Amino acid sequence: MSVNKLGIIGGGQLGSMLSTAAKKLDIETIIYCNDKNAPAQNFCDEFLFGEYDNKEKLVEFVKKTNIITYEFENIPFETLNEINKIKPVLPKPSINRLIQHRLAEKDFINKLNIRTTRYVSIEKKSDINTLDDFLPGILKTTTMGYDGKGQFPIQKAEQLETLNIDFSKGYILEKLVKLKKEISVIITRFGNNNYQLYEPIENTHEDQILKFSQIPAQINKDLFDQANDWAKSIAEELKYIGTLCVEFFIDRNDNLYVNEIAPRVHNSGHLTINAYNVSQFENHIRAVCALEKIPLKKLSNAKMLNLIGNQIIPYRNNVSFKENEFFFDYLKKEIKNKRKMGHITTLIS
Ligand code: ADP
Ligand code: MG
Repeated sequence: MSVNKLGIIGGGQLGSMLSTAAKKLDIETIIYCNDKNAPAQNFCDEFLFGEYDNKEKLVEFVKKTNIITYEFENIPFETLNEINKIKPVLPKPSINRLIQHRLAEKDFINKLNIRTTRYVSIEKKSDINTLDDFLPGILKTTTMGYDGKGQFPIQKAEQLETLNIDFSKGYILEKLVKLKKEISVIITRFGNNNYQLYEPIENTHEDQILKFSQIPAQINKDLFDQANDWAKSIAEELKYIGTLCVEFFIDRNDNLYVNEIAPRVHNSGHLTINAYNVSQFENHIRAVCALEKIPLKKLSNAKMLNLIGNQIIPYRNNVSFKENEFFFDYLKKEIKNKRKMGHITTLIS
């Protein structure tokens, strides 16, 4: 199948970077998003605004495409499943359904004998009474969370009384890991045992939002290999097609845990645009559109700084970046607190 019209659901910066990568491969991108001001409309070939349950609008979108992918995971399963009946959706909707639910995701990972944080499902207030084993912990909504949204740190069970939590939603309580480091592994899978791994990336978060990423990660070889192996097993087990990111915790005893899986391109992989011959975005498109897999080469070490909220302002006014600095402005209309506005990647030796 030759694909020249790729549909992308979601119009944030990941959609923009996918569109830019597609252009290079002579693939047109049509983006569908429920935000009229979605920044990716500045980068794609065609933009459609519509809600994720607007069947007519979605059909109009699907008709314009040969194949569909998505740039964020919180899309209703029904939407992806209905679309998949008309045109192929990659990664498969069932993968998205599994991963967008924190409990199902962790159960799946544990079945592969891969370590996660200890966790328990919380459905009602009284579930809290017997949880001392999981404290201190973080209470998270089982679905729809990102950038730390829907998360509550919990030291003592009593705190739950005062937090005013809406128990009509499902929650998961995760034991807090005493973090030494966080890393991520990005993998693009093209088919059975056919994949490319980017080397582990070291990540620093502030207020549960990614702030800084760099390669090489300062980790020992065992952790390097184990993280790669686990990412491979997860991608194989899911029969995943496209780019996937696995986020890991490393505790103070050098134990590795999978934190979560992102069934999409990932913020920590922005540095692959400048540090590799083929970026995570280009590879995602190559995989979902069944294009050639090109040998992956790292060109340089790199670090990436997210510009959050008004941190973008001085960079917008700076016209003199050095040769090894690459500034990306997501062209979001409004600067908001905690909003990812852009990033800067610096190639380092
Ligand atoms: P999101 O879906 O918002 O990315 P994560 O579960 O990845 O949610 O949490 C965001 C960040 O919060 C993590 O990268 C980590 O820094 C911190 N965090 C989350 N859960 C834990 C935990 N169980 N132990 C320690 N830190 C955690
Ligand atoms: Mg995360």
